[in-house]
Amino acid sequence: MSVLILGMGLSVLDLALGCAPEPIERPLREGPRELDQDTGEPPDTDTGEPQDTDTGEPVDTGEPVDPELDRLCFPGPQMDWTVCFDLVNHQSSWGADYDYPEPLNGSAQYSKPQRFLDLSKVADVEQKLAPNFTFEEFLAERKGRYGILQPHLIERLQELRDDLGPLTVNSGYRNISYNAGVGGATYSRHVYGDAADLKPSNVSLSALGAACDDNGAGYVGYYETHVHCDWRDDPQEPAIFEPAPIQPGTKHPLPDLSATLQVQQGWFTAPAEGWDEGEPLREWLALDAGGQVIESFVGRSYQPPENAAAVQVVVGREIQILQGL
Ligand SMILES: [Zn+2]
Repeated sequence: MSVLILGMGLSVLDLALGCAPEPIERPLREGPRELDQDTGEPPDTDTGEPQDTDTGEPVDTGEPVDPELDRLCFPGPQMDWTVCFDLVNHQSSWGADYDYPEPLNGSAQYSKPQRFLDLSKVADVEQKLAPNFTFEEFLAERKGRYGILQPHLIERLQELRDDLGPLTVNSGYRNISYNAGVGGATYSRHVYGDAADLKPSNVSLSALGAACDDNGAGYVGYYETHVHCDWRDDPQEPAIFEPAPIQPGTKHPLPDLSATLQVQQGWFTAPAEGWDEGEPLREWLALDAGGQVIESFVGRSYQPPENAAAVQVVVGREIQILQGL
């Protein structure tokens, strides 16, 4: 957490959150790939191997074909990894919606996805990817025909749900254009399919964020209406991304965040930049001359009481600013 101290040198709260990544355990996926059930359609170039533009014949790339990489499987309602979807190769003709940026700092965690779900081919969007999460909570065709979703996200969320009770998913996968349209950061993990914006029913946003951290989240963001949890440091799904070496335990780039404290006619605000979506949580304290807390408040603007000697704001649990009055 960044700490800015302005004015009086009062003690500051330590709101740094712990983070203990855990290894993922997943049973090996088995069984032959099922035949495409579509009928009556011409061969779909989306689903094929690379084709020679002159002959239309598949190009022998010399690479062994791994049928497991043509399918993406999820835990499913029974947690037996039998809910699977066919994948299609990315095509440049899909345009800007799926034109991913070059990997951030060359990081394998920001590789361009190579294979996608074709949402127009998913017959039942209400099917369960895990006991308490459905397909449509993360992927919607109205936001774009193709999408990706990393199974490790669903595993982690089900574990959280088992502990915390119902969780509403406000946002799952976003394609490049959709993400830009909602003000998402260029390298938002939502475009890489391992992030979710969550609203708990039975616990506080703070408790949910702490649980994400305890469950190995690579990054947790606190907003006014939700908690953003992503697992950017987990190995990337090989069925979606080209295999790339991942160094276990490597921390990957976090958002570049900033905030300032401003005051106008006695009201303080803390404009912030770099957050991925929505307004970050702002937690205010008014302190007396001895550094004791005399009032606390959560909201976008704050007017401290007249006897306050200092005001402190923590923005998104990331940036702390302390200002003497
Ligand atoms: Zn988010």
